[in-house]
Amino acid sequence: MGAQTVVELSGLTKQYGDVTAVHDLSFSVRRGEFFSILGPSGCGKSTTLRTIAGFENASEGRIKINETDITGTPAHQRETGMVFQGYALFPHKTVSENVGFGLKMDGVPQSEREDRVEQMLATVDLGGFEQRMPSELSGGQQQRVALARALIIEPSVLLLDEPLAALDLQLRQDMRFELQQIQDRLDITTIYVTHDQEEALSMSDRILVLDAGKAQQIDTPRKLYNNPQNQFVADFIGEANILQTRFKSATKDVIKVEPEFSSMDTVSVMKNGFDENSLSTGERVYLNIRPEDITIHPPDKDPEDGLSAEITNKTFIGKTTQFVATVGNNQEILAEASGLAAQQSIATGDTVSLTWSRDDCTIIGEHRV
Ligand code: ADP
Repeated sequence: MGAQTVVELSGLTKQYGDVTAVHDLSFSVRRGEFFSILGPSGCGKSTTLRTIAGFENASEGRIKINETDITGTPAHQRETGMVFQGYALFPHKTVSENVGFGLKMDGVPQSEREDRVEQMLATVDLGGFEQRMPSELSGGQQQRVALARALIIEPSVLLLDEPLAALDLQLRQDMRFELQQIQDRLDITTIYVTHDQEEALSMSDRILVLDAGKAQQIDTPRKLYNNPQNQFVADFIGEANILQTRFKSATKDVIKVEPEFSSMDTVSVMKNGFDENSLSTGERVYLNIRPEDITIHPPDKDPEDGLSAEITNKTFIGKTTQFVATVGNNQEILAEASGLAAQQSIATGDTVSLTWSRDDCTIIGEHRV
């Protein structure tokens, strides 16, 4: 474990009776890192976070914080600060009393407490709100009080469980930015749980994608998007066309596959880290192409090497237009165009030609992790 590792999970499993909520999960989070756990509802995100916080006991595996094994340590001795979706503020205490609560429990004298509360409220942009009651604050302000309360005890790691989920869209977007700024300013190691891929992509240094309690991929947002390791990740992060092909051959940098969705002979794809060594010729693999990476050529500009398709749906969604293009065997391919020309010159019913660059697609294997 590197010197910069703050949280380390090895082989964490959490069982509730017959339900395995988290299965053999291992990852480490570096000092100052913004690390997100992303996945659909029920995939085990909260359970993972609550087990790190000590609100649940691990069934198997170890958890370390700052190189100390804390698997059996009570929650209040773990140096973690947690913020929940519901703010869980004390309704009859002032903002100042709410934020200073942890310090009071630790026996910090009143004058020092007041100084630190004032400082922390300034950090979360709530200077001057000391004497307000929680009921006199907006949802976003209450969540910042909850954040201040978690941060004031100077935890080694900040644990955030869908903290923005209860806020409306506009506020959620503002808070994303604010939260990121506070995290950055304090340089606090953060584990953030969310089911919202846009939230995770925009805020995180690295993301763990979880499905059915199992890690699918741990990577930077860019890598998850550009180089998903399996179908689940490709589908869950953004929109993806995942097309069936058969493995043909590989050179140093390029993989050749035979599409099952058209009569095209061969499609070449940059390897991009994909390891083809275990594949045999003819084995099923998937070609993953993002809709925005597909160019639609209008009928009069047919390139020779494109994939022939019929436009079967066209939807204007503001910044871009989405097209459904259907190829030979009824395979639907989603394409997105942002240029006005493409939006105007392509209509439902048109026979068009689709092209993409081999740099913009990836190959993913048959199996889930
Ligand atoms: P997420 O946070 O990703 O929505 P959870 O961690 O809350 O998922 O839940 C993961 C799985 O564990 C779900 O199947 C859920 O029903 C189950 N689970 C969570 N908490 C409990 C509990 N206290 N008792 C029994 N099952 C639970």
